Parts: sequence; C-alpha cells; structure tokens
Amino acid sequence: MITNNWKEWYRTEYLNSDHWKKFRQKIIRERNCCEECFREDCVLHVHHLHYCTLYREDGYDVAVLCTLCHKKAHSPKRQWERRFETWAFKIYGRYWRKKLSSKSVFKHFRHWLRSKGYRNPPDQLREKESHQLETEVRHFSSQDCQRLLNNLQRSQQ
Ligand SMILES: [Zn+2]
Ligand SMILES: [Zn+2]
Repeated sequence: MITNNWKEWYRTEYLNSDHWKKFRQKIIRERNCCEECFREDCVLHVHHLHYCTLYREDGYDVAVLCTLCHKKAHSPKRQWERRFETWAFKIYGRYWRKKLSSKSVFKHFRHWLRSKGYRNPPDQLREKESHQLETEVRHFSSQDCQRLLNNLQRSQQ
C-alpha cells in the first residue's frame, strides 16, 4: 500500500516540512540517546513506529535511534514491526503501551495474522529485553537513559 509516490512524498516533502523539523528536534532534545543501544555521542534519528499520525505525532509514535539501529529497524527482516505498530495503533489506540503489555498485544496480532491467512507470522517480538527497555525509556531524560544503560551493562557483567 505504500507506493513509490508516497515514499517520494514522505522523503522529499514530509521530512523537509517545518512541522517535522521542529518535532524531531524536540524529541531528540528530550531523549538525547538511542533508545535501542543508549548511545548519546552520535547522530540521532527520529524513526516513525507507524505512519498513522503524520503532522500530529507525539512521543508515542516515534523512536530515537542512532544511525546503525535505525538501519536495522528498516531491514527487511523487521518490516513486520511497522505492521504490528500500525495494527496496534488501529485496534488499541495510540497509548496502548500505557495499559497493555507488548507481549499480549503481539499475541493478538499473531492471532489476527493467522485469521487473515498468513501462514508464517513472526514468532515473537525481537529480543524482549531491549523491547521492554525501549518502551520504558520512551519519554525519559538523558540521565534516565544513562541510568538504564548502566543498569543494563551491570546486569550483563
Ligand atoms: Zn543505537
Ligand atoms: Zn525510520
């Protein structure tokens, strides 16, 4: 459904709009680190989890990612993640993460995929740990990011 025309418009018009430039600056300032790997000392991108709220995004619609994590987020292997986010947005509303676990919503998503005839829906959300942290870290300040990173490193030692 995402046509080349749409992609073209998104890339040339939308990403260059004043609205987007302002919004992305604000979000980067607020979070100030990559939400996947928690790096701070790098170029940061704002990634759309879904495209349901263009021109009216808030913090729940996007993730701040470093160049590498952003590239990974767009890999073919992870295409379904945006479908999941889009579906969850439509079924449960923008703030579903406030009241539901990713795990239970994902289960419902798989069920739905099967009912639509998809034979091989993805088994699970990718690395649970980082996904939990990802939702936890949303809306936190850079100090909180640093704290979470420290905790994560400590737990891995
Ligand atoms: Zn990263
Ligand atoms: Zn992106």
